[in-house]
Amino acid sequence: MPVHKSTVLVLRCHDWSESSQVVHVLSRDLGRLRCLAKGSRRPKNPFSGPLDRWMLGEAVVSVGDPERLATLMELYETQRFEGLHRSLPAYYGASTVTELVLALVPEVDPQPAVFDLAADALGHLAAVEPDACRATAFAFALRLLALLGYGGPTDRCVECGQAVSQDHPVNYSVGLGGPVCEACRPRDKGKVHRLSVKTVQAMAFLAAADWDQVRRVRLKPSTARQVREVLSATALELAGKELFAARYV
Ligand SMILES: [Zn+2]
Repeated sequence: MPVHKSTVLVLRCHDWSESSQVVHVLSRDLGRLRCLAKGSRRPKNPFSGPLDRWMLGEAVVSVGDPERLATLMELYETQRFEGLHRSLPAYYGASTVTELVLALVPEVDPQPAVFDLAADALGHLAAVEPDACRATAFAFALRLLALLGYGGPTDRCVECGQAVSQDHPVNYSVGLGGPVCEACRPRDKGKVHRLSVKTVQAMAFLAAADWDQVRRVRLKPSTARQVREVLSATALELAGKELFAARYV
């Protein structure tokens, strides 16, 4: 099987045997992979292990048949996001990041920009104040959707490009991935959410602003609830997956 070196982010781990783990990783060069890490639970192992989610490092991976598990041969941890374990908002924010990547990013499809976005988001979540974690996690989610081609500009109708109302609640189509004007509103497909103007503005801002500006955003509970509903419905629509951690963000 071909052997590759790549920077990887560990997304999820579970025990496979007394000595080994199955590890889901996002590789910068190889995409999302499911790997067997033989011996990772032994006291001496080549993984800085036992492996745990949110480890980021340089890995050696052997990838063969995409239908079968790849083999994680080595992992040298280069970055540890200690702050993710320091507060519940950071923990749930990071859990939302990994849930969304696992749900929406296809396997064995290299997307370096997605990797960089996920690593950046975890770094920010580990560093920002607890009450900035919600905006940071939502900013990640909206950028991920845009990178994967699911989300358009959020201040215009995704069908005709007309600017959406600045005075009235906005129809947001999960199926189409953005706001829709009254004329373009789907009559029969997908669920349409009514979002307040403030929510649409917040989503547009979070999708595009510098991370330094994102960390200063404190969303009202009513705005956060609407963003959360859109994200949850989107994950369900696109991947048939429920988001669990996002309920607590
Ligand atoms: Zn329209």
